Amino acid sequence: MSRTTSQPDARTVAAEHRLAHLIGGEMVPAASGDWLETVEPATGRFLAHLPDGDTRDVDRAVAAATQAARRWARTPAAERSRVLLRLAERVEANAEALARLESIDTGKPLTLARAVDIPRAVANLRFFATAILHTRSDAHITDEAAINYTLRQPRGVAGCISPWNLPLYLFTWKIAPALATGNTVVGKPSEVTPMTAHRLGELAIEAELPPGVLNIVHGLGPKVGAALVEHPAVPAISFTGGTATGAAIAAAAGPMFKKLSLELGGKNPTIVFADADLDHAVPTAVRAAFANQGQICLCGSRVFVERSIFDSFVAAFVRRTEALTSGDPLEPETEQGALVSKSHLEKVQSYLRLAETEGGRIVTGGDRPAGLPVRCGDGYFLRPAVITGLDAACRTNREEIFGPVVSIIPFDDEAEVVAAANATEYGLAASVWTGSIDRGHRVAAELQAGTVWVNCWLLRDLRVPFGGMKSSGVGREGGDEAMHFFTEPKNVCIKRNERPGDAE
Ligand code: NAD
Repeated sequence: MSRTTSQPDARTVAAEHRLAHLIGGEMVPAASGDWLETVEPATGRFLAHLPDGDTRDVDRAVAAATQAARRWARTPAAERSRVLLRLAERVEANAEALARLESIDTGKPLTLARAVDIPRAVANLRFFATAILHTRSDAHITDEAAINYTLRQPRGVAGCISPWNLPLYLFTWKIAPALATGNTVVGKPSEVTPMTAHRLGELAIEAELPPGVLNIVHGLGPKVGAALVEHPAVPAISFTGGTATGAAIAAAAGPMFKKLSLELGGKNPTIVFADADLDHAVPTAVRAAFANQGQICLCGSRVFVERSIFDSFVAAFVRRTEALTSGDPLEPETEQGALVSKSHLEKVQSYLRLAETEGGRIVTGGDRPAGLPVRCGDGYFLRPAVITGLDAACRTNREEIFGPVVSIIPFDDEAEVVAAANATEYGLAASVWTGSIDRGHRVAAELQAGTVWVNCWLLRDLRVPFGGMKSSGVGREGGDEAMHFFTEPKNVCIKRNERPGDAE
């Protein structure tokens, strides 16, 4: 067993740095003894070794979680809340180091990790740690014959599988409601960005989570993730990631009748009407397109603009895009960091070639930014790209690219733009910009999306239902939705022998 306590928060992480699983309250290597490598996207260089987990590690983690499940489920909600709040405190106390780790591991600007990723991880833990104190049960009175009440009991061991784009943010978004409602957890972070999940494992030990309550198994999706999905002792799987992976998980878990929450890909429209406040619409549409290098499932990658303002909008959009500073993610002025991996950069570049083949024009970007520091010479950088000249039906405008690439498309009327916005297999989110509140309501009701923002983007309230329609997912996260997903509703029906008034 190797206990890892070093905290890599410098510009480079020592070459010998090795991550570990958290199983049964201990940091342990893979049963195989094998290691995978993770790379720093800004430099293309080796960052750390992570355990190459397999079925044996998943079996051990599920056994530890199963052993801890009964006691954790019976731990009073107030005590579970205290434990999770302690974890939130440890994360907050280490916020700066975690933000640096997240930036180094993903390529995202440190300023973004500091402002969004780590504070949101703390907020996720605090939100569900306190939400569990304010739950209520339903009761249904069946005339004078019976009283029904609903017990909400934890499902047991929850499998939580998360992606690379918002590593600690999305990992805690799943494990916090699972743990708060009394489940134990086996978590599987992305093998592409495992650093902060490893550190969370150490912080869970520091926060004195009972052993086995939270387990974290590192490794490849088809090995560790698939073993977790197929494990008979894991009745609930909460997954965030790509649509193809979600389909594979649904195919494996469906015949086992597992409870599934699937948060998948998106191809989100930003719709700008001529009566919109462009002083807000333009900068927000640029942020929606390129935040985290376009690698947020909610990014608006198709911008529909009413024809009468199309040319001026494109000019303003391009001006702001060209003003974004690409550079070393660790530098304070950097607004665009590196893409997460070489293969992902190549995928995004292949879509730029496709866009040109389909008749699109790359108005700006799509190349390597100039003036990168020497350290970033081999990093995976791409200047944010703006494409025009494509219609809504082409592949570039229907498939998820998940990078700093946006396509701007003109429209003439409301019905046309709603149809075009809905013309993808995805239905995750949309943002609508208009000066007419009536139109905002009307278009929001017509769009096929789990979230519609009107005159804003990514304004989040952790209580609201979050998730996607169509191929963007199954189920909802957030607030009560997450607490319901991780609990089994059980109706208890008690017959009344005496009717009111019988005794009179
Ligand atoms: P991915 O599907 O490749 O991987 C996600 C996770 O699943 C990783 O931990 C991976 O190891 C694991 N995995 C891979 N194959 C598996 C299998 N067969 N069985 C079980 N687990 C498996 O996704 P990604 O590339 O890490 O993330 C990018 C995708 O995530 C994008 O499509 C993006 O839109 C989506 N995403 C969606 C949301 C949302 O809330 N809807 C949020 C963030 C990202």
